[in-house]
Amino acid sequence: MATSIVLFGPPGAGKGTQAGKIVATTGKPQISTGDMLRAALTAGTPLGLAAKQFMDAGALVPDDVIIGLIEERLTLPDAVNGVLFDGFPRTIAQAEALSSIAEVEVVIAIEVPDERIVERICGRFTCGQCGAVFHDSFNPTSVDGVCDSCGSSEMKRRADDNEETVRTRLEAYHTQTAPLSDWYGERGLFVAVDGDQGIDHVGDAILIALDSL
Ligand code: ADP
Ligand code: AMP
Repeated sequence: MATSIVLFGPPGAGKGTQAGKIVATTGKPQISTGDMLRAALTAGTPLGLAAKQFMDAGALVPDDVIIGLIEERLTLPDAVNGVLFDGFPRTIAQAEALSSIAEVEVVIAIEVPDERIVERICGRFTCGQCGAVFHDSFNPTSVDGVCDSCGSSEMKRRADDNEETVRTRLEAYHTQTAPLSDWYGERGLFVAVDGDQGIDHVGDAILIALDSL
């Protein structure tokens, strides 16, 4: 059976930043529930509009909504050889649901202390065309306002990337998501990497962890 990888960590840990390297190495497509919810919101679907109030508040979207999204996404042909989950699961209920629909090979946790998270999130911007992730100070574009990956100048900042919401998101992470480290640890699937180092070093540590499986 095809196996999947979970990229785990607090908001702003660098999951989206590192996903590209893992996708390139493993061939597994990235499934980011945050990206899917934002796409639904942009498209104005009922699901997107229902999720908006939770996302704006920095709270988790209800489990049944998220699990439904994932179940549907996993029926697409590109998921047949396993996928890279980014930002999912975020609760024990989501992990339990996932265990009955896909086999998780490993959970790679990017560990970053809370005090780094606010500065990372408040400086984040992304390319509206290709989704590449940048940071005002830690990962700026080479040419101001122009995406290094695709050349677009359509840069975006997220509505929930502000200091107040980040603190609520971190609280949600610690109370609802962090317990998954023990849940996956008990199943022998949890591998932590130090996310408090340069982007390339974090990427190397992840590839070493994946190589050693
Ligand atoms: P996540 O997907 O986990 O929410 P992102 O990949 O979007 O996190 O990263 C959050 C912000 O931190 C982005 O602006 C990104 O450029 C920056 N960033 C990511 N990894 C690092 C790192 N190792 N050091 C410094 N900044 C980083
Ligand atoms: P992210 O892009 O991963 O930072 O997620 C942005 C927001 O989307 C979160 O603050 C939640 O409101 C919502 N969200 C994304 N993924 C999940 C999930 N797996 N479970 C619940 N809510 C989620």
